[in-house]
Amino acid sequence: MPHINDSYLYLQGSYLFSNIEKRVSAYKEAHPSAEVISLGIGDVTRPLIPAAVSAMHRAVDELAREETFRGYGPWRGYPFLIDAIIENDYKPLGIDFDKDEVFISDGAKCDTGNFQEILSASCTVAVTDPVYPVYVDSNVMAGRSGRYDPSTIRYEGIVYLPCTAENGFAPGLPGQKVDIIYLCSPNNPTGTTLTRDQLAVWVDFARATGAVILFDAAYEAFITQPGIPHSIYEIDGAREVAVEFRSFSKTAGFTGLRCAYTVVPKGVGGVSAGGERVSLNALWSRRHTTKFNGVSYVTQRAAEAVYTPEGKAQVKERVDYYLENARIIRETLASQGYTTHGGVNSPYIWLRTPQGMNSWGFFDTLLEELNIVGTPGSGFGACGEGYFRLTGFGSRENTLLAAERIKKWQI
Ligand code: PLP
Repeated sequence: MPHINDSYLYLQGSYLFSNIEKRVSAYKEAHPSAEVISLGIGDVTRPLIPAAVSAMHRAVDELAREETFRGYGPWRGYPFLIDAIIENDYKPLGIDFDKDEVFISDGAKCDTGNFQEILSASCTVAVTDPVYPVYVDSNVMAGRSGRYDPSTIRYEGIVYLPCTAENGFAPGLPGQKVDIIYLCSPNNPTGTTLTRDQLAVWVDFARATGAVILFDAAYEAFITQPGIPHSIYEIDGAREVAVEFRSFSKTAGFTGLRCAYTVVPKGVGGVSAGGERVSLNALWSRRHTTKFNGVSYVTQRAAEAVYTPEGKAQVKERVDYYLENARIIRETLASQGYTTHGGVNSPYIWLRTPQGMNSWGFFDTLLEELNIVGTPGSGFGACGEGYFRLTGFGSRENTLLAAERIKKWQI
């Protein structure tokens, strides 16, 4: 038998969401008539935007005709979509990229999970705590951690950067040398954003220490307040040290369709064992060519339609819808005396559990007394203990129903 990758045995499995599912199923079985509302999900509920649907119909017809049929596409992505991305997502910010600095993919999850592959297993990784678990697990799989320590809820060898109410959920610089830094703004799970100054500190740090920043901007479209950076490339020097991930999932309803992109500027580099500077763009290109055959033509046409005037209006309608849900949840909680964070430039609301309850205790109470499902903050890391995540991704009807239940609740 082959020897397995033992690092997989360090993983804690999908403990969080399977545990939630188990508890909800058990509750529903015991209370078949209960109307359980999920405000815990990170998936969208509004359908695909109509502009994308029409574009897909047209694309399918093209594929059905001999004259317009297309087989394998460019592995990096079709130029029509890459151009639309650069023109619409970056040029208005005063940022320009060459076409070969943008890579179309089937998801920011895959890209944030896979990017570490082109970096050495000896690299030290820094993540925020709480954190989107993909960053941690993909590095554990790659052998960049030691074992999981249940007493600290952390993996040995990974550098955790606490994000708490005290530091405004902005991670402080690590006290040691790190090579790979994952940042996410607007943040999942805290729903908070990093300011220009806070991001500039990280860019300067990466430049001074030779680290690379993997910046996850999957929720960029939810930024509504002025002054908050939409891209890390708004910060001087970021093109030398940062890779940016974006996604069509939460904006245009692509969570099932699958399309995202990653920007790897040619200025971002790493060092070989021989001490030679190597472009990460070249390595990511190489990896992409070998392991990926592109996102389907139909899907890329759908993504292109996101940038048409109708597409933009429809995305705005979707984003406004989820943000309004977030506002309803946030204001309802605040009116009941809860301390909340996020939910303004993000669909995620991060609330302090009442009366010092732990995250799972609050989960059970909320499920049993209000039939509302959320996500325990401790599932995102040690610093998430005592917090709870609710999302604006539900339907308006369910959000209002949940708000009514919360208003009447005396915990
Ligand atoms: N990045 C973050 C921070 C997320 O929360 C999610 C999804 O929940 C993703 C990436 C995944 O995006 P995609 O659907 O493009 O894989």
